[in-house]
Amino acid sequence: MRSPIPDYLLEVLDSCGADAGAVADYIPELAAANPERFGICVATVDGAVYAAGDADVEFTIQSMSKPFTYALALADRGVAGMDERVGVEPSGEAFNEISLDPETGRPRNAMINAGALLTHSLVDGEDAAARSQRVLAGFSRFAGRDLVVDESAFSSEFASAHRNLGMAHLLKASGVLECDPVEVVEGYTRQCSITVSCRDLAMMAATLANAGTHPLTQERLLSRPVVRQVMSVMMTCGMYDAAGDWMTDVGIPAKSGVSGGVIGALPGQVGVAVFSPRLDTHGSSVRGVRVFERLSGDMGMHLMDVAQEGRSALRGSYVSEGEDAVTVYEMQGDLRFSGAETVVRAIAEADHTTTRVALDLTRVYRLHDVGRRMLLECVRRLELDGRGVLVIDPEHTLPPAGSSDGLHVVDSLEEVVARGTDPGRTSP
Ligand code: GLU
Repeated sequence: MRSPIPDYLLEVLDSCGADAGAVADYIPELAAANPERFGICVATVDGAVYAAGDADVEFTIQSMSKPFTYALALADRGVAGMDERVGVEPSGEAFNEISLDPETGRPRNAMINAGALLTHSLVDGEDAAARSQRVLAGFSRFAGRDLVVDESAFSSEFASAHRNLGMAHLLKASGVLECDPVEVVEGYTRQCSITVSCRDLAMMAATLANAGTHPLTQERLLSRPVVRQVMSVMMTCGMYDAAGDWMTDVGIPAKSGVSGGVIGALPGQVGVAVFSPRLDTHGSSVRGVRVFERLSGDMGMHLMDVAQEGRSALRGSYVSEGEDAVTVYEMQGDLRFSGAETVVRAIAEADHTTTRVALDLTRVYRLHDVGRRMLLECVRRLELDGRGVLVIDPEHTLPPAGSSDGLHVVDSLEEVVARGTDPGRTSP
């Protein structure tokens, strides 16, 4: 069978292709972009890639670099270290507004230029060249291939970067920027001039969606707390001064750039990149925004379109047949607080008729720490009540790292039944 997904993407391009907006012209090199280009790529967290249209055409990454440089700086300085220097509040202003928070003196967030300039300066590296190298190497690992800087786009922007230079001098004057302001603008402009395709961007976004592990290379590139911070700031500040509209209409953490790209990272699902150079008044690709609106609606991608996780975590419970029966609680999916709570509640409210209880985690593919702690506490309390508890857990999801002491873990219900009169752990 041929997958219907590429055909669907072609249809999306077709239906979102009407002309509107204008190509950015404040950077001479961008003014020359072919306005007709239109491409899309969707990369799933398990490494499947679907592309349509001009998905392999390269363009400069521009502001879509900001979340990734922020990620590198967070990895280098820690979340708290970055919070001291760059805020996380939406500014409600245009990307190139010369603004600092009057109370703290910090740029309001890392997605506007003031914050992105400072963020670039905070990436590890003993000098400007080393920082630029760290950024290029980091982006290449997120994309899964060696990226390069478009030198002519860089010169074209740097020669007219007066506004960004003004901002960097302001950052220096207010004491928040430690390096030389001109060097920082040079490094930031280089960062914006790295060339990428939709395919690269979708992979970079999918690395965020996959909690920091590259979907294809399986390399862990960022820690979960860093990814959470980056995606939160993308969600609240990523779409210039249209972040509120984006949140309500699309609901995917995203970032756009003046070259006409828009990236989105949907936690646990996909990275998406769209490219079409004509921009709206906020500076985001007109067709790019349209495509995201369409995908979000068609594919249920809005983050606030809440999964009924709690209700579906407990698949069911039953008493096994035969003498020496066991009450089995079958769980499924991704167990966080609300899911684990439904299991805990069912166990707490049950009138057990058996002396043995089994927690079946065969279908649980991810157990969050809170879910683990709640289930372990259930085991402890059931045992205090005098019941033998068995854990059906072929993948060993439940035992805390390094210690399964005292837990009776088995691979299948057959093994539980076979244990017969050995009820597993009983209370002392
Ligand atoms: N290099 C651009 C600038 O700083 C990036 C702008 C953007 O993509 O929003 O002006």
